[in-house]
Formats: sequence, C-alpha cells, structure tokens
Amino acid sequence: YDLKDEDLKDLQELGAGNGGSVKKVEHVPTHTLMAKKIVLIDAKPSVRKQILRELQIMHNCHSDYIISFYGAFLSDPNICICMEFADKGSLDGIYKRIGAIDIDVVSKVALAVLEGLTYLYDVHRIIHRDIKPSNILFNSKGQIKICDFGVSGELINSIADTFVGTSTYMSPERIQGAQYTVKSDVWSLGISLIELALGRFPFSDSSSDDDDSDLSDFEGTLSPSKPMTLSLPPPKSKGLDTKESKRNKRKSKGVSLQGGGMTMSILELLQHIVNEPAPRLTPEGRFPKMAEDFVYGCLMKDPDQRKTPKDLLQHEWIVHARETSFDLEAWAGTF
Ligand code: ADP
Ligand code: MG
Repeated sequence: YDLKDEDLKDLQELGAGNGGSVKKVEHVPTHTLMAKKIVLIDAKPSVRKQILRELQIMHNCHSDYIISFYGAFLSDPNICICMEFADKGSLDGIYKRIGAIDIDVVSKVALAVLEGLTYLYDVHRIIHRDIKPSNILFNSKGQIKICDFGVSGELINSIADTFVGTSTYMSPERIQGAQYTVKSDVWSLGISLIELALGRFPFSDSSSDDDDSDLSDFEGTLSPSKPMTLSLPPPKSKGLDTKESKRNKRKSKGVSLQGGGMTMSILELLQHIVNEPAPRLTPEGRFPKMAEDFVYGCLMKDPDQRKTPKDLLQHEWIVHARETSFDLEAWAGTF
C-alpha cells in the first residue's frame, strides 16, 4: 500500500487512549478496511521522520498473533499508523459488553499473547511494553492478536511527555524504575487475564481484609481503559503510608480520577502494587487449578522468579488451550 490520507475514508471512531485516537477507515482504492491510529507528536521534524523510519520495522512483523501493519505517514501535527482492523474490537470492550470472559477463552487469549510476545522478542528483539486488554484484539474469524507494541524508541519518548496513565498494568520493578524486560510484559499479561476472567480490574477488589482494603474506594474510577492524567507530585512527597495519606485516600472517595490531574490515589495504587502481595486468580476453586497456577507464575513480584513467555508456552494450561476444541469463531458469533 502507498498510503495517503486522502485515500482513507473515515467510517467510525473506535476509541482513544494514550495520546491518540483510533478510527475505522476504508482505503478507498483497494476497498480495504483499516484501523487508523492518529498520534499527536510534539517533536521536531527530524524526530518525526525518525519515528516514521522506526515504525517501518512493523512491515517485517508477520504473525497470526500480531495485528498487521499497512503503513504510517505524517499528517502535520500527527503521525498516522494504519493497521489491520479487528471487527470485534478489543477485549476490554468485549468484557464490558458481555461480562466476565469464559476461562476457556481466557486460556486462548493467554496462548495468543504468549505466541505474539515470543514472536516479537525472538524474531525482532522487541518488547511489547503495553500489554493490556485494550491492546488485545479479536475478530469474527476467532483470531486473537496483539497491537500497539513498542517498536519505535522515539515514539515511546515522544508519547511519554504527554503520558496519560494506564500505568496500572505496570510491574512492580517498572514502577520502581527498572528497565523493561520481556518479563514486565508477563506481569501485565497476568493482570489482564485476571481482569478478563473476573470481568473487572483486579486491583479494585474489596475482598482483601488487610488494612488496605479501602482501595475498594477506587471501584469504577480506576477503570484501566479510561485515561487518567498522571502528573507527578513535587519531589520528596515522602511518607505516603502515613495517617495523612489514609485521610487523603478517604477524602478522594467518590471523586472520579478521570481527567482530574494528579491524585494521590493513583500513587497509592502504584505503591500497592509494589508493597502488597500480587493479585491471584481467585476465589479458589472457581477456576481450574492450572489457570490459577499459570497466573501465579505471571505475577511473581520478583522478576527473577517470574517466567518468560517461552517458559509459559510450555505450561500445562497453555498446552491444554492449544489442544482444546473450543470454537472461538462460534464464540465470536454470540455477540
Ligand atoms: P488504548 O489501547 O489505550 O485503549 P488506543 O488509542 O490504542 O488506546 O486505542 C483506542 C481503542 O481503539 C482501543 O481500546 C480499541 O478498542 C480500538 N482499537 C485500536 N486498534 C484497533 C484495531 N486495529 N481494530 C479495531 N479496534 C481497534
Ligand atoms: Mg491501544
């Protein structure tokens, strides 16, 4: 494809996220449906060209588990990235429409994401960096594919400036500033799988009986797909775990974090991820033991103990997911 903006006809808004929005478009000359992601980049022309060059790597990414790339171009303040359109949308949208996702489907999601991550890493040395339900797409053929991986270092840098925080899939080591590794993606996968299986973001759980159970205050407001502006507080905001912070936490009750600038609550969530035990696929007995065990392996807080995507592809739950005759295409037909 020689993509030009004037050949693309807007059909529908698909959503918006970190520094961008996505539209369903038709490439009129070829009648191809595409998803066009528009990213506002506040950078010099040289940097924009560099980003465009880096994005070309995606032309070499060919996997059944990766959304195909059609091309990218500059369109004044924006960079447009055109990719394969997934007609059933992302998994966050699906569970919000139909409720918690059947665990057999979740096992297929785990399989697809691991295949995609392993392909990106083994073939291209790419780490995804943004695994979450809104970046796992589904189509009516029953295919599950990942999108929005970090191919362009310059793009990552440029977006980081206008970061709106869906940082809540971030691993403990990332929150603490360690380098990204492929294991950080495994953590994000674990959180995403729990979210799909329960039909809600795991950190909004109120069932824990430790003294942090008032994290349930966040329910409904910490929706991971809604952008939350996170501008960091002044340096030396020490003593987050004090009486005062508890009071602030209570004060923030019922206040939507969305678009609300910096709130202490988000920092406390990050602190929770770092300091508290990792979530589990619970309640015990509701899901197959091997699913519980798989998620447990993804959510080891110490990255050295956490498994790699390649290890996890050997896990019995994934072996089972590969062999099961569960029909995803038929399932796609139910909604
Ligand atoms: P985020 O992933 O943080 O939600 P994005 O800007 O990447 O933000 O995407 C916005 C929404 O557009 C996603 O939630 C998803 O539902 C939809 N979307 C993105 N890419 C595609 C695609 N290739 N096909 C269909 N829907 C898509
Ligand atoms: Mg996305």
